[in-house]
Amino acid sequence: QKAEWAKLKNEKTVSSDNQHIELAANIGTPEDVKGVLENGGEGVGLYRTEFLYMGRDQLPTEEEQFEAYKTVLEHMEGKPVVVRTLDIGGDKELPYLNLPKEMNPFLGFRAIRLCLEEQDIFRTQLRALLRASTYGNLKIMFPMIATLNEFREAKTILEEEKQKLIANGISVSDSIELGIMVEIPSTAILADQFAKEVDFFSIGTNDLIQYTMAADRMNERVSYLYQPYSPSILRLVSMVIDAAHKEGKWAGMCGEMAGDPIAIPILLGLGLDEFSMSATSILPARSQIKKLSKAEIAGYKEKILSMSTTEEVVEFVNANLMK
Ligand code: PEP
Ligand code: MG
Repeated sequence: QKAEWAKLKNEKTVSSDNQHIELAANIGTPEDVKGVLENGGEGVGLYRTEFLYMGRDQLPTEEEQFEAYKTVLEHMEGKPVVVRTLDIGGDKELPYLNLPKEMNPFLGFRAIRLCLEEQDIFRTQLRALLRASTYGNLKIMFPMIATLNEFREAKTILEEEKQKLIANGISVSDSIELGIMVEIPSTAILADQFAKEVDFFSIGTNDLIQYTMAADRMNERVSYLYQPYSPSILRLVSMVIDAAHKEGKWAGMCGEMAGDPIAIPILLGLGLDEFSMSATSILPARSQIKKLSKAEIAGYKEKILSMSTTEEVVEFVNANLMK
């Protein structure tokens, strides 16, 4: 099997009916890019920039960040790189920010909420990203967006920083796509409205599942509720993909679910455009997708979405979609 996977390294990902799917990787540091290329990644679908901020005692400077983003973009040689702005909070703490302890960190002051409030931190990161944008194919993504106003505010700040840089004679790419993580149910439900304003969606199922099922993703005792193949999750995912396509935008997924062999056929049939996963899952996923017909599975979409339990979905996939 390993040998078969290795042969696929330099191939594009196409289904048996010749539909191209983009298989990208999730990374946490510039060093991870090597593994992406070795495993035939077609891009970076999620660069979790919070690791630049963690394990140290002060914020990274604009220069440090610029170097990190530039390195990733250069080494990816023009392939798409989706960089997520700072997503701190929840299970990821930054002791040096001295944020007050919260009762429910996953529902609290984190990610875009923190960035819109602590704008110095946010603007520094955005400047570093904008300056790096000319070194490759950069896409910027905001995490934990719950309302359109949050997106609009973040976009305005990005635009302000861009204009300031340009006014100072610094070149910035004029083709940076701007997207959001869809990981909060309110945003999935309102995806049709978001799709008019964003360039792309990336569905963050790690959080989307925890918020939809009201089950802490770190809590073993409620892990039985953490169900990626639940019809409720699949309906949300499907709504988001359809909403994007209706506006001519693309929809990806960067939660763990995107690299899961049971989920992959379902997501292919729902029309997901980009799957972002850990680098080592890419070649197995490419091999799996090669054997699947996207059109054929799309024919099962209504059937799958009208199922009532996770067990029913899994049974159907195992019986019909595992080639
Ligand atoms: C997600 O929530 O699915 C996601 C990809 O983000 P993180 O795991 O970093 O919260
Ligand atoms: Mg998340």
